Amino acid sequence: MQVEVIEPHGMCAGVNGAIARALELAKSRPAGDRSPIYCLHELVHNEIVIGELKDLGFRFVDRIGEVPRGATVVFSAHGVPPQVREEAARRGLKVVDATCPFVARVHRSARAFAEKGMEVCVLGDPAPAEVRGIVGEVEDAGGRAFVGPHGVSAAKAKGGAAPLGVVAQTTMNSDEVERAVAELARARRVKTMAKVCGATKDRQDAVRRFCRGAGPGAGVLVLGSKTSSNTRRLAEVAEDCGAKVFTAGDVEGLSRLDFSGVGRLGVTSGASTPERFFMEAMRFLRRVPEHVAIIMDGNGRWAKARGKARSEGHRAGAKTLERVLDWCGERGIRYLTVYAFSTENWKRPKAEVDGLMALFARMLKTKERDFVANRVRFRMVGRRGDLSPKLLSIVESLERKTEAFERQLIVAISYGGRAEIVDAANAAVARGEQVTEETFRRHLYAPDVPDPDLVIRTSGECRVSNFLLWESAYSEYWFTDTLWPDFSEADFDRALESYAARDRRRGGA
Ligand code: SF4
Repeated sequence: MQVEVIEPHGMCAGVNGAIARALELAKSRPAGDRSPIYCLHELVHNEIVIGELKDLGFRFVDRIGEVPRGATVVFSAHGVPPQVREEAARRGLKVVDATCPFVARVHRSARAFAEKGMEVCVLGDPAPAEVRGIVGEVEDAGGRAFVGPHGVSAAKAKGGAAPLGVVAQTTMNSDEVERAVAELARARRVKTMAKVCGATKDRQDAVRRFCRGAGPGAGVLVLGSKTSSNTRRLAEVAEDCGAKVFTAGDVEGLSRLDFSGVGRLGVTSGASTPERFFMEAMRFLRRVPEHVAIIMDGNGRWAKARGKARSEGHRAGAKTLERVLDWCGERGIRYLTVYAFSTENWKRPKAEVDGLMALFARMLKTKERDFVANRVRFRMVGRRGDLSPKLLSIVESLERKTEAFERQLIVAISYGGRAEIVDAANAAVARGEQVTEETFRRHLYAPDVPDPDLVIRTSGECRVSNFLLWESAYSEYWFTDTLWPDFSEADFDRALESYAARDRRRGGA
């Protein structure tokens, strides 16, 4: 079965913004403060996210009356009606409003229609919080709302000369919205602001494109919670396009699916599905590693073979790294660690070392926007004290700006496996700890990152060269004669295929 990523997919700006606000709030609590942070309804519709927020002390309630007076309450991404805001103010609650700006825009449109004395038809499911919030706006402005499929029939039947305002739940099926607006317009005069949000439309259109290109017999796997409206819509869109549809909210659910008979499978995810679940699913489907580490060797030889300066080789190598990072994203590989500059490399001629440091600084500065746009977290491992203050400040600024992202590029600079072990041992000794494998691990440069599953080395050398000595104890290795600047997507896929075919027993039977 050919497995393809459908782009775009996954978390939208509105959901990311709501989660970021909630995490900020949890972080800002004074140390030792265990008082719950209340959230009215699910912050976003995803069990994985909700579970993690519960672990951080969030408590989810369905009614504002359940929040104790004076407590902090977060309004979810789906918004609340004005009546809830008023009650929160009466009860003296501290409100953190995580309503998505697109949802807030629909509220404003519905209210504006009602304030002009128009009746309003709200296209969407009557139950979700988002629709209740929109209806609340209409009613607060003294208007009348028709909701859902019944609402469309009622609004049509009512007729009349006065125009009908039409708005839509942001996560509707965009085709369905167009059909409903056309149906209403045939029955009476309408003024419409009914549009699904851009993120919803883009994800639905991507599924339509995939189904058109894949032809009959294609399958679409939609990852996300059953409670998520936009996840359900993606499944509906795929079904409308004639695809065989599969859904899963977690890896256990995924492992129960039977894909037999599907030749080509497109994978997408709802706007509230965490990317780490998407990547986990891709790894499951394709048997790809979670963490790939690369010894990027051969820049100098590549340049020499072409009569170019070594610096040209390093620049070409930097371009290869950009491509490899993209390939990792497309294949669901969450961590990519690359060996960029070893502790031994300081012995190279000063001009080359200076050129390399300048290249790092330039790359990190010019690529900052790409890291953020592609939601990639940048991290450095190595001896930070060896870097110039200027380079270190660029490194640390990029680390701060990208720390919330799940995919990671970890660059080893002034790094040595032995140096890391010595540094970790000294840190443990300084804390008076008895050293065990577990306590020792906590002092590694990136202790939360899982060990690499696969280490690739280019340029024909078959050595470890002091790279991730502790972490690679059980890694699989793959070597190629290709020089790093020439490392191609086909080489990368060969490494992954070799990995997928291996039986990793890790010392077991
Ligand atoms: S799906 Fe659209 S409306 Fe909903 S949170 Fe995301 S951007 Fe906002």
